[in-house]
Amino acid sequence: MNDPHTKALSEVLERYWGYDDFRPLQREAMTAVIDGRDSVVVLPTGGGKSLCFQAPAVAMGGMALVVSPLIALMKDQVDTLRNCGVPAAYLNSTLSAEERREVLDGVKDGSLKLLYVAPERLLLDGTLTLLANANVSLAAIDEAHCISSWGHDFRPEYRGLARLKEVLPDIGIHAYTATATEAVREDIAKQLGLRNPEFLVGSFDRPNLTYRVLPAAGKLGRIAEVAKRHAGESGIVYCISRKEVEKTAAALVGLGVKAAPYHAGLADDKRRRTQEDFLNDRVEVIVATVAFGMGIDKPDVRFVVHAGMPKSLEAYQQEAGRAGRDGLPAECLLLFSRGDAMTWKRIIESPNDESSPESIAAALRALDGVSGYAGGVTCRHAALVEHFGQALGSDDCGACDVCLSELDLVDEPLVLAQKIISCVARLEQRFGADYTCKVLAGSSEERIIASGHDRLSTYGLLKDCRTSDIRGWVEQLVAQGFLVKAGEYGVLHLTPKGLALLKGEGNPRLLKTAPKSGKSSAGGGSR
Ligand code: ADP
Ligand code: ZN
Repeated sequence: MNDPHTKALSEVLERYWGYDDFRPLQREAMTAVIDGRDSVVVLPTGGGKSLCFQAPAVAMGGMALVVSPLIALMKDQVDTLRNCGVPAAYLNSTLSAEERREVLDGVKDGSLKLLYVAPERLLLDGTLTLLANANVSLAAIDEAHCISSWGHDFRPEYRGLARLKEVLPDIGIHAYTATATEAVREDIAKQLGLRNPEFLVGSFDRPNLTYRVLPAAGKLGRIAEVAKRHAGESGIVYCISRKEVEKTAAALVGLGVKAAPYHAGLADDKRRRTQEDFLNDRVEVIVATVAFGMGIDKPDVRFVVHAGMPKSLEAYQQEAGRAGRDGLPAECLLLFSRGDAMTWKRIIESPNDESSPESIAAALRALDGVSGYAGGVTCRHAALVEHFGQALGSDDCGACDVCLSELDLVDEPLVLAQKIISCVARLEQRFGADYTCKVLAGSSEERIIASGHDRLSTYGLLKDCRTSDIRGWVEQLVAQGFLVKAGEYGVLHLTPKGLALLKGEGNPRLLKTAPKSGKSSAGGGSR
C-alpha cells in the first residue's frame, strides 16, 4: 500500500465516499486508469464498477467522460456523486436549454470532474468538438458489452464509440461490464480500438447461492414451495409475460403469500409503490418481468425463481444474482420448459428494426446456452463460471442440485445413451435433434417413411418414451460432450467421447422424467 497511486486513491475513497478499503480488483482497475492505460474491466453486478472510474476521476486533473446507455441510471449516479461532494453532470435529451447551457459552461471552465453522456448524444459533432477542446482525463464506457454483437444486449448506437479513439487519441479508454464471455471481452477491445488494454476479470462465482433446475411442469406448486420455505423473507419470481406475472402473483396471494406483481404495463406510481413496499418488507415476493431489478439494491433477497426461461446465461447470472447480495445463503431456482425456449425463439426470429442476421444468430446461441445449462447434469456453479471463461477449482460445490445429489437420474444411463447415439450414427450424422428423436420414438411421419428410416435398427427403439424426454436426453448428451450440434441446422455428430460410449466406455448422466400419465401436465406452462 506504499505506492503513491494507492495512497492517493485510498484518500479519495475515504474522503468522498467514506470507504476504508477496495473491493476485489478495484485497486488494479483504478491504477490502470491513473496510468492512462486502456482497460476492460469485468466485475459482477454489485462488484463496484462505478467507483473504478469515479475515484480516479476525482484524483486526476481534468474531467472524466462517462458513456452510459441508461438515462435513469445516469441521473442516479450523478445525484449520488453530488451528494458525495463531487461536481458531476449529465448531458441528455431530458435537459432544458438552460440546464444544458449550464453543463456546457461547466465543461468549458473546467469545474466538472465527471460528465455523463448517452452514446447517441456523444457522437453528435458538437459534443465531439466540445470534448476535443476540453481537458478530458479519461473515458469510461459503462455497459460496454452493448458494443458487441456477440453480447446479449447489442446496441447499434454503441458502434460509433470507435470514434472516441480518433477524437481523444491521448487518453485512456476504459470499458466496464458485468457480463462478458472471453469472446465478448476481446470484441469490446477490438470495436473500441483499445491499445494493449489491461483485462481485469473478477470472479463470477457466487458461492452463497444454491442453484437448482426443475421442469416447469407443476410450476405454481414449485414456486409456492420455495416461498413457504422462505416465509417472512424476500424473494423475486421472474416470468416472461405480463399475463403470466399477473396470474402467478394472484395465485401466490391466494396461497397466503405477500406477493405483488411488477411489470412495465403498470402505472408508474403503482410500480414505485410496489418497489418501496418490497424494499421495506411490506411485500415479500415480487412477481415480475425482467423490467424489475435494474438498479434495485436490496441486499437480503433470499430467493430468485425463474418461472420463465431467461434468454441468456448472462441474463440469468444477472437476475439470479440479485439473490444473496449480503453474502448470506440464498437460493436460485430455474423452472425450465422447452415451450419457453420455443417462445423465445419465436420472439428472437420475429422481424424488428434492430435485428441483423448476426444479432439473431447471437441471440439464438445465447438461448441455446440456457437450454444447455438447464439440461446439464454437471455442477451448476461450474457450468455458470465456465460460461464466463472461468474455472471453479472444486468438483463439489455443495450448493447445487447436482452436487447435492438431488437430481432424479436414470438407473442405466449407459444403455439409454448408447441407443440414442447409435441412432445418430445410423442416420449417418446428417440430421438434427428433432428428426433423430422422432426416429427413436418410432414416428410414422411421412418424411421418415419416405427416406426409409423406419427400416433402421434404431427406429422405434425408444417408442415407450415421450418425445420430449428423448429430446431432453439428446440435449444432456450434447451438454456432456457425447454429441455436438453442427452448422446452422444443428446436425448431430458423434464426438470421440460419444464413439467411446458405443464401446461401453464413459459415464453419461441422464435425467429421469415424470411418467407419461403422471400429473406432470397439471399447472404446466400453458402459453
Ligand atoms: P456495479 O456497477 O459493479 O454493479 P456499483 O458500482 O453500483 O456496482 O457498486 C455497488 C455498491 O457497492 C454501491 O452501493 C457502492 O457504493 C458500493 N461500493 C463500491 N465500492 C465499494 C468499496 N470499496 N467499499 C464499500 N462499498 C463499495
Ligand atoms: Zn455444484
